[in-house]
Amino acid sequence: MITHIQARGTRPGPVAVPGRPPFRKETVMIDHRKLGRELELFDSDPLAGAGLPFWLPAGAAARHAVEQYLRELERRNGYQHVVSPPLGRPALFELSRHLEHFAEDMFSAVDDELMLRPSLCPHHALIYRARGRSHRELPLRIAEIGQMFRAERSGVLGGLSRVRVIALNDGHTFCAPSQVVDEVGRELRLIRRAHADLGVRASSFRLSLRDDSAKFIDDDAMWAKAEEVLRLSLQNAGVEYEDAPGEAAFYGPKIDIQVRDDAGREQTLSTVQVDYDKPQRFGLSYADADASHQVPVMIHRSLAGSMERLFAHLIEVQAGAFPAWYAPVQLAVLPVAPAQDDAARSVLAAAPGLRAELSVEGSLGARVRQATLRRIPYIGIVGEREAAAGQIALRLRDGREIPAQSVAEALERIARVVASRSHDLLG
Ligand SMILES: [Zn+2]
Repeated sequence: MITHIQARGTRPGPVAVPGRPPFRKETVMIDHRKLGRELELFDSDPLAGAGLPFWLPAGAAARHAVEQYLRELERRNGYQHVVSPPLGRPALFELSRHLEHFAEDMFSAVDDELMLRPSLCPHHALIYRARGRSHRELPLRIAEIGQMFRAERSGVLGGLSRVRVIALNDGHTFCAPSQVVDEVGRELRLIRRAHADLGVRASSFRLSLRDDSAKFIDDDAMWAKAEEVLRLSLQNAGVEYEDAPGEAAFYGPKIDIQVRDDAGREQTLSTVQVDYDKPQRFGLSYADADASHQVPVMIHRSLAGSMERLFAHLIEVQAGAFPAWYAPVQLAVLPVAPAQDDAARSVLAAAPGLRAELSVEGSLGARVRQATLRRIPYIGIVGEREAAAGQIALRLRDGREIPAQSVAEALERIARVVASRSHDLLG
C-alpha cells in the first residue's frame, strides 16, 4: 500500500476537453514521450546521457507489476528464472559471433577486460553448459528480464522506444531437434496470452529472413532448416504473416510480432527465433536416450519485448489509462471534508494489497479532476454519510459511478478486477 499524499496542483497534467475524459484514444495522436512525462512515468536528463531514461515512481510501479506478471506467466509455463551480469569479456562475444556480426551496434569495451553485452544469449548458453545435460531435462527453458546495451546513434533516440540500455523480457529454450516445432508453437500461444493480458495490439506477424548481406552467417543448410521449422509453426498456429527479407537475426530467421506507434512507425515487440549455430559454437550437448551426445537447438524468444519498448507502446495504445492491474496508483481515496479524513485513512488501511493513496488538499472537484487526469482507475469518495455508514462511493476514471457501498465490498470489487487482469474496470 502506498500512503503518499498528493498535494493539490503539484502535478501538471494534459488539458481536459470539457465533457469528455481527456484520454479518449480516438481523438488525438498520442506521443508516449510527451504523455509519459506528463504522467510522470519516466524522464531523462542530458547530464545522464541521451537514450538513458529513468523510470519515475509511477512508471516503476507499473513496470514492476508487468514484470511480476511476466515472471509468473513464464514460471507457470515451465521456465526457470536466472540472473546474469550485463557485462562480459570480449572473448564471450567473439564466441557468440557478436563481435563479428554485430559490433557496430555494440559499445566499445569499458576497459580491456570487459564489454557491455548486446544480448543475454551468450550468458544463457553458458548457464546451459554449466553442467552435463540429459535428454530428460529437455526442453530446458530459462528466462530473465535482464539488461543489455545498444549503441544507438543519438539522432534516433527518443523517449522509451529507442534507448541505449534495454531491459529485455528474454527467454531461451534448449531442446531436441524434434521438439522445435512444438516449442515455437507454444511460444506463439504464450505471446498471444501476454498480449491479451497487457493490452498489446499486434499490427502484423513477420517471418524475418536473411538477404545477400554479409552480416548473416553463411550456412545455407542451417538457414533452410530453421526457415522450414518457423513456417510450419506459423502454419500450425493459423497465423497470417508476411516475409521480411533482410530482417533476420545474424544467426537465424525469426518470427517478429510488430506493433505500430501513433505516427505509423512499425517496430518489433515480441519475437521467436530458432538458432542452430550458437549451440555448436558454445559446444552445448546433452546425453540422449542411447547415451550418445547430441547438440540441442536454441530457441530465443521474448513474450513482450523490452520493458522500454513495451511501455512506449502501452502508453500510446491506452492513452496512459492502464488496466487496473498495472496502473501505478489503483485507488485514490478522497474525503469530502477534513471530518472524513480518518474514515478515508481507514479505507487505505483496509486495502494493503492495492496501490492506493489519500488525496486531501484542494476542493473535491479539483481532486477528482487531478485523479482523472492521472488515469487513476478508481476514485473513492468518502462524505459524511459514507463515513457514518462505513461506505465509499466509487467513481471510475471514465466518468462512470458506482453508488455508495460498504468499503469491504468496494475493495473486493477492485481486487477482483486486479486479480483477473480485466481491462473493464467494472470487471
Ligand atoms: Zn537470445
